[in-house]
Amino acid sequence: MNQLIDPFNRSITYLRVSVTDHCNYRCHYCRDEDHITGTTQNEILSYEEIAKIVRLFSQLGVTKVRLTGGEPLLRKNILNLVTMLGEIPAINDIPISTNAHLLAPMASQLKAAGINRANISIDSLKPDRFKQITRGGDLDKVIQGIDAAIASGMHPLKLNMVVMRGVNDDEIEAMVDFAIGRKIDIRFIETMPIGAAGIDALDHHYSEADILNRMHAHLPERLIVTNPTQTSGPAKSYLINGSKTSVGIISAVSNNFCSSCNRVRLTAKGRLILCLGQENSISLRDLLRSGKHDDEIKSVIINAINNKPEKHEFDSAINNIDSAQMVEIGG
Ligand code: SAM
Repeated sequence: MNQLIDPFNRSITYLRVSVTDHCNYRCHYCRDEDHITGTTQNEILSYEEIAKIVRLFSQLGVTKVRLTGGEPLLRKNILNLVTMLGEIPAINDIPISTNAHLLAPMASQLKAAGINRANISIDSLKPDRFKQITRGGDLDKVIQGIDAAIASGMHPLKLNMVVMRGVNDDEIEAMVDFAIGRKIDIRFIETMPIGAAGIDALDHHYSEADILNRMHAHLPERLIVTNPTQTSGPAKSYLINGSKTSVGIISAVSNNFCSSCNRVRLTAKGRLILCLGQENSISLRDLLRSGKHDDEIKSVIINAINNKPEKHEFDSAINNIDSAQMVEIGG
């Protein structure tokens, strides 16, 4: 099998696919309140086009495809896409990232169609605060979605909490207890200075070290380091002794985890993005629609991977990823 190896000897096996740039939430660090997604149906990739691109990537060594957005569950007939991706032989892992607002009635069908696991965004367990952060979100619905995902057998399930000093940092312990109670995993994410958060995110920065101190105080001698070298992705993770829960910390700001990056991103409009923190991209949609042969498109993908940047530039004061782009890329 062909392999996608970039100039920094990283093997690309993971494609994140944004299936829509629409979202039913307006998290204030992600998109502006009045953000309107002007994208038309014809601009975004059809399910056949997404499946075609995923098949080409799978022939180049990609085995994992995450569905994200915007909010992926907003896209009509998403089950059809999951089924199509599940039929691609080399793809053996199809997780979804969702805010879970629409998940409860769909969880078991998604699992049956091929979604084996999910990351669910939840930044507060206080209904009013949750509503404020998401600008209108419904915490009850999200918790129902989480419980339905547990009941469906999706595994592992990870909660994603963006920790913001002075906004929700007082809920770190409550969130861990919530995850322990439901026997699911939790990951704390440092606010990244991209999207609507922009450089202001650094004002709310809550560091990995601070989160860890809080964890050690809350669960004395119960944190067992599971991946000290961070070879399996961006999250440093710890198992909580005596529970079924692991805690991860995604510290894109405190730490640069780019040396183990194994992923690229496909936007809803079919742009291939090589790095979350940089704007290099190439339109695979235009190549597909201009009738290029599979081998030509695969060559373009291989060339693009040869230009994957060594690392993001979150630490630079000038970051090119604005709100509109973040919305399109899907985190
Ligand atoms: N709607 C889905 C969801 O809520 O998970 C998928 C898209 S959302 C953009 C993916 C993840 O990106 C969410 O966990 C969100 O909290 C995170 N995110 C968005 N902007 C961020 C920022 N500036 N810093 C850190 N995380 C961010």
